[in-house]
Amino acid sequence: MAISLDDLPIRDDLRGQSPYGAPQKKVPVALNVNENTHPIPEDVARDIVESLAAAVLDVNRYPDREFTPLREALARYIGHGVQADQIWAANGSNEVIQQILQAFGGPGRSVLGFPPTYSMHSIITRGTGTEWLEGRRDAGFDISPDTVRAEIERTDPDIVFLCAPNNPTGTPLELDTIEAAYEASRGIVLVDEAYFEFMPADRPSAVTLLDGRPRLLVSRTMSKAFAFAGARVGYLAADPAVIDALRLVRLPYHLSSLTQAAAVAALRHADEMLAMVDDIKAQRDRIVHELTELGYKPWPTWSNFVLFGGVDDPHAVFEALLARGIIVRDLSIPGHLRVSAGTEAETTAFLNALRDIRLGA
Ligand code: PMP
Repeated sequence: MAISLDDLPIRDDLRGQSPYGAPQKKVPVALNVNENTHPIPEDVARDIVESLAAAVLDVNRYPDREFTPLREALARYIGHGVQADQIWAANGSNEVIQQILQAFGGPGRSVLGFPPTYSMHSIITRGTGTEWLEGRRDAGFDISPDTVRAEIERTDPDIVFLCAPNNPTGTPLELDTIEAAYEASRGIVLVDEAYFEFMPADRPSAVTLLDGRPRLLVSRTMSKAFAFAGARVGYLAADPAVIDALRLVRLPYHLSSLTQAAAVAALRHADEMLAMVDDIKAQRDRIVHELTELGYKPWPTWSNFVLFGGVDDPHAVFEALLARGIIVRDLSIPGHLRVSAGTEAETTAFLNALRDIRLGA
């Protein structure tokens, strides 16, 4: 007889939980998990392969546990005077977040998040035995300094998660809200900047607030702007003492030598890799414009995706798009769907299909 989860001596606090579940389907137009759908440029791919070829000759040895060249390359990329000893990296920012919770969370401790937000924030929180507390947002999914202060005072969390800009809504987060959260809280404040590169170019990163704020952590990823989701590289900027704390919980050699080599090679081509970002932002703005014309209600977004309301039956529209070879994300937010901005051709395919569905064609 088949064994189910309930038959296993699994931790009580994991009973009844659901795993991360974005559908992985092979369809011609996949706009459901906020990937960068542009393939990486061929000359960059060639340089990465050459670096991998060199690294593979040493793969009999454990990798550099401190991934020093990668940390130096990430510090240079981030700028703002951030030094390599302030940088940490792991297999995706998901792993960075997990390590933060292993070091600063755990049983008897709590995280305050602000739903609707990135689903892995609560899943990783619970997975590390940390309590997940829900803060309230203002109208329009905003979080004002007063709101963040009030929610921190109400819940007294050990860790505050702020997603800037927020997934799945795309909502910007102003620096004064981050400053207010830091002042009001006694613990760690993590700003998840997974979509930082899609913000308006003149808007500052939370990295500019790091000086003098040792409890402030800023995580980012190469999965989005760098089109590197399959390579699994996320990173963090914080006080060097925070990096020391993460060394206590990381598994030795957690970043393979192949991952390190590939990431360092990609960062050598940061300018070329980021040239795709402008294209994606243009397609995102086009989605907002055309969805508005179709009568939908797209929310303001600083990311590579658009959350839009005014969808009478999100599940039916999701299925109708899927039947046309296009996958978007149904996040169970009533009346809403989320779509990632793709290439111009993918975005056109999505908009044309949605128009047909809207008009009953
Ligand atoms: N943070 C946010 C807000 C995200 O949306 C994602 C990916 N969807 C991640 C972190 C994780 O990205 P990765 O593990 O690929 O770095």
